[in-house]
Amino acid sequence: MIYFDHAATTPLDARVLERMLPYFRENYGNPSSIHRFGQKAETALEEARETIARVLHCQPQEIIFTSGGSEADNLALRGASLARRKTSGQEWILTAKTEHPAVSKTAEQLEKEYGFLLEWLDVDEFGRVTPEALGKAVCGNTALISAMYANNEIGTINPLRDLSEIARSNRIIFHTDAVQAAAYLDVDVTKLNVDLLSLGGHKFYGPKGVGALYVRAGVELIPHQTGGGQESAQRAGTHNVPYIVGLAEALKLACEERESRAAHVRPLRDQIIGQTLEAIPDSQLTGHPEERLPNHASFVFKDVDGNLLLQLLDSAGFACSSGSACKTGNPEPSEALTALGYSRAWALGSLRVTLGKDSTAEQVDSFLKILPTLVEKARALTKPH
Ligand SMILES: *Cc1c(COP(=O)(O)O)cnc(C)c1O
Repeated sequence: MIYFDHAATTPLDARVLERMLPYFRENYGNPSSIHRFGQKAETALEEARETIARVLHCQPQEIIFTSGGSEADNLALRGASLARRKTSGQEWILTAKTEHPAVSKTAEQLEKEYGFLLEWLDVDEFGRVTPEALGKAVCGNTALISAMYANNEIGTINPLRDLSEIARSNRIIFHTDAVQAAAYLDVDVTKLNVDLLSLGGHKFYGPKGVGALYVRAGVELIPHQTGGGQESAQRAGTHNVPYIVGLAEALKLACEERESRAAHVRPLRDQIIGQTLEAIPDSQLTGHPEERLPNHASFVFKDVDGNLLLQLLDSAGFACSSGSACKTGNPEPSEALTALGYSRAWALGSLRVTLGKDSTAEQVDSFLKILPTLVEKARALTKPH
């Protein structure tokens, strides 16, 4: 079985696991305890915070640990919007339909249940939020902008610096979901000029169920999880010390090995894109041709049931994805692809192939050998929409 679904999750790096193990075994203390068990755990916790701060070029106290990328997104959107409305009365939230549901569904809830005003930003044909679209949408009443760094479904990288510049000059809080981006792109928050940035461990060979939110000093959040005073009373709950240690180690390795990992996957990715478009009729690349994650290839095939194609691929020994969590039975095309303007006949036939640091040229060759036949087979079996 060949794993080409690294945008969904990555295996835990053995080096990361090694760092985590002592905190399950002998160093099991609660970092909030006074005794030596507690002190040891607290030291590990604060070292992890410093490691992450070094990668992000921020202060350690600007990092809040969470239960994953989704929680970091939730805390950023809900926490910052509520705090802004309280202090300044601002009530508009700007984000895009191409965002991960952890952002878009949270924005929808803020509209429906909390009375915020929500505007969906236009995206271009590649799924980018353009500075022009953002510039037109901002106003004195905007509380928060959320624009992802790189898209999980189509790999497109947003022009983040241009977007955050607009936020900065209008004094609007700017959040970016960097959960997918952190595996391959520079996450220096001073260069990106963002106020809030979400990370999730399992997208870069760290553990699942742990993440972090960067919160620029001075940016206020209303906590969504109250209880003990952990994380400067911004996120209550006993720290998951082994996972936090793993998150930091995985991010450090991703940063150190960023260039070599990107250099490894990029030519393989380019080969997948080039040969697929050439060999398969009625195929299109989704997302930006250049401004995309180096490990990420995504396509639509006209009149192909994407779920069926994934099953055929699985039977042939390849784990791929459609890019979104569409269910079998009554599949709806993904919101992101619909926002990009793809018709049903195209959007239902999506395929995402995401490589990893251990993917090989042989794996890619055998994949490319079989893919055209499987698309043809799926197309023949697909009832017209
Ligand atoms: C995976 C992902 C998330 C969710 O992170 P979890 O750690 O799985 O909760 C959020 N945003 C993007 C872009 C992602 O790829």
